[in-house]
Amino acid sequence: LTFRHNLTAGDTITNAELTRIFKCATQGGMRRSHRTNSLVIISDHTKFIHQDRWISETLVHYTGMGLEGDQSIDYLQNKTLNESLTNGVRPYFFEVYDPRKYLFRGEVELAARPFEECQPDKNGKPRTVWMFPLRVVGADSAFCAPQKLVARKLQRKARQARQLPDGELFTMAIHSRRQPSNHQTTSTSYERNAYVAELTRRRANGVCQLCDQPAPFFNKKNEPHLEFHHITWLSRGGEDTVENSVALCPNCHRKMHILNLKDDQRKLEQEAQKNCCQLTIDGGVVYV
Ligand SMILES: [Zn+2]
Ligand SMILES: [Zn+2]
Repeated sequence: LTFRHNLTAGDTITNAELTRIFKCATQGGMRRSHRTNSLVIISDHTKFIHQDRWISETLVHYTGMGLEGDQSIDYLQNKTLNESLTNGVRPYFFEVYDPRKYLFRGEVELAARPFEECQPDKNGKPRTVWMFPLRVVGADSAFCAPQKLVARKLQRKARQARQLPDGELFTMAIHSRRQPSNHQTTSTSYERNAYVAELTRRRANGVCQLCDQPAPFFNKKNEPHLEFHHITWLSRGGEDTVENSVALCPNCHRKMHILNLKDDQRKLEQEAQKNCCQLTIDGGVVYV
């Protein structure tokens, strides 16, 4: 008897409905059900900790199980998912953009070998996590997440980053993922790392990192207007990291995109390097 869920990508259900359909546990990011031989995988964007990311319209990099310390590939459902090409268990992928609303994305399969990367744990400590490249399969792979939801998720992340104290923000920014996300909605746009952007903005402190002049005007929130720039452009393989990010006035930003002079690049690289430095004295944070 094969299990039928009768869901189509884009359907939104409650947790109660989800557990009834898949006959799985009511909690957890990955929920194995022996009764339906399925593995329900949930990417919850309302939680602070997790850094799952879409690489293309059908490929997501999903963070494994374990909130604290280094993750193990042999731990519970990490093992189930890692062996899912051969163990007969079918993985299904859900996203949470709004609390208690589970958006069905479809059946997924392991698209490549899981790999390790550094991410902060729930206490903000850097640790090793396992990332699972998962590809949506079948008819559901034609579905794209609504632009509205994705935009709201990015705004929420930016807001969370703004509220972090300097020390925590530094840890999150320095130990965050290396590859930018590429979110396929109606148009393709890179999903920037909110911690990296916020740290860069805070360190620039209203002054352009190329011409060293104050921002030319204030925005509607009365903040100095500077623009976020990657020294090596993402489109040329640059990374979304603190050492590749600077804040520029609109003039200098245009200049970098039109001329991209070697001397200017060198100056920006030095500025970005300064953003990576931190001294800790008596628990207080001093930047050098
Ligand atoms: Zn400037
Ligand atoms: Zn730029």
